[in-house]
Amino acid sequence: MLGLMQDRPLLISSILDHAARNHGGAKIVSARPDGTLTRHTWPQVAARAAQLAHALTARGVRQGERIATLAWNEHRHLEVYYGVSSMGAVMHTVNPRLFPDQIAYILKDAADTHLFVDPTLLKGAEALADRLPETLRTIVVMGTEAEIPADCPLRGRFEVLAQESLIAGQPEQFDWPELDERSASSLCYTSGTTGEPKGVLYSHRSTVLHGLAVLQKDVFNIGAEDVVMPVVPMFHVNAWGIPYAAGMAGASLVLPGPRLDPASLHRLFEEEGVTFSAGVPTIWTALLQWLRADPARRFARPPKLVVGGTALPAPINAGFLKEYGVHIRHAWGMTETSPLGTANTRKPENAEWDEDRFLDYARKQGRPLFGIELRVRDAEGKPVPQDGVAFGELEVRGPWVAGQYFNRPGDPAFTADGWFRTGDVVTVDALGCIEIVDRAKDVIKSGGEWISSITLENLILGHPAVAQAAVIGIHHSKWDERPLLLVVPKPGTSPTAEDILGYYEGRVAKWWVPDRVEFVDSLPLTATGKLWKADLKHKYKDRSLG
Ligand code: ADP
Repeated sequence: MLGLMQDRPLLISSILDHAARNHGGAKIVSARPDGTLTRHTWPQVAARAAQLAHALTARGVRQGERIATLAWNEHRHLEVYYGVSSMGAVMHTVNPRLFPDQIAYILKDAADTHLFVDPTLLKGAEALADRLPETLRTIVVMGTEAEIPADCPLRGRFEVLAQESLIAGQPEQFDWPELDERSASSLCYTSGTTGEPKGVLYSHRSTVLHGLAVLQKDVFNIGAEDVVMPVVPMFHVNAWGIPYAAGMAGASLVLPGPRLDPASLHRLFEEEGVTFSAGVPTIWTALLQWLRADPARRFARPPKLVVGGTALPAPINAGFLKEYGVHIRHAWGMTETSPLGTANTRKPENAEWDEDRFLDYARKQGRPLFGIELRVRDAEGKPVPQDGVAFGELEVRGPWVAGQYFNRPGDPAFTADGWFRTGDVVTVDALGCIEIVDRAKDVIKSGGEWISSITLENLILGHPAVAQAAVIGIHHSKWDERPLLLVVPKPGTSPTAEDILGYYEGRVAKWWVPDRVEFVDSLPLTATGKLWKADLKHKYKDRSLG
């Protein structure tokens, strides 16, 4: 017997309608590159998104057609988010920090017909001109005509126009189509940390469900009174769903634009009264260092922060809480999981833990949100015990987890029984909390046993002379692989190898201690700011540790 409830589809257009109808009082603040701010409201975002959809419809854009963006977190990007998806086309965000070859590959793979480009990124697009795909017809500069240089070399090959002239004079209402909720809404490629970028094609249904899930108290905890600043980019995994979640809650949004230095961010926190923000550890680490440099730098009202993307260094978390009263919540996710999969918050079982004990526990990535199921299996495919010690590869499934990649049927990341293999190696504890100990590709296989490169990196970061560290597996004739530690020393220090390796004594099993340490000036990072182990491994591929 079926239920007798109304079968209303879950659509992105309904988030926009809801925010515009019920939350006209919230503000949408957008920072320009020069630091000046523009201000809109949800009804204005809805009106401008409708104008954009009319303009694109008039130009023949059809449902399912891919429309790319190369842009920062700013209001015109938000209008493309809502306008393109709501009309049934697919909003394809492209990460401007990727290598030009990767951007060209991604645009070709997606077969985009329009490319929206922020004026500050136009030069980058010009450099790509010869490699832009055949399908591309129009380049829309996200600003006014005055922001397009007269000699823009893209002009000859493509139609080049400004977003403001594109939407000018268009009606401010759009009768949004009642799409199948499983229709594609947006497309984002993985950052290619572990290989070629792969497209993840989100649906209206997955986006709405993910948005509802992240609003929860134990996830982002966002309401109408919040002023939300996504520092995580709108060009990668939909800024962790914040543009949608904020619309659902009717929250205000502060979009920081391209300037993410600590002083610019702190100014927005203070002047706009930001109550919630999300970013990767490098952003919060830089902010903490900047705050500490001058005792006058404080938060009038400490915001709530969420961090993810890479592991949260414990001293950063402790510094924010103890010195500034700022709570940081640790979350885990991937492009393939929309991205939120887990978040680390207290439960009745650990409600009584004192601050220090919970700060230590907060290094773990958290427990699954409702909707996400986890399965952890060892190398033989057997489930690992929930003891916080044994580790295996994490697999997930749920309504906002990818079922396959765009244009890549049959990818082995998807199991025959419907799970997605994350490539993350984790432990699970008795409270259901996961801790990432490595990427499956980076774990060091020493004599049939696994050594966690991440554990070794995190530990050595506690050494006073270590600024950055990486551990990679190096060939060994007896043990297959042994760990090599690469260290960037803190300025003004000159630690010795004995001093560094001695730090591991008593902290890890003897056979985990790296065989060697080398001092380097810097470590390679990917476009999303993660340690680029593939590059390091390539560099050291001919080395041997015995
Ligand atoms: P890519 O997989 O191309 O690096 P993603 O942005 O999808 O791009 O990154 C997902 C990966 O980032 C995860 O599989 C995991 O290894 C890592 N990651 C995400 N959040 C965390 C976190 N909180 N702690 C440690 N690693 C994380």
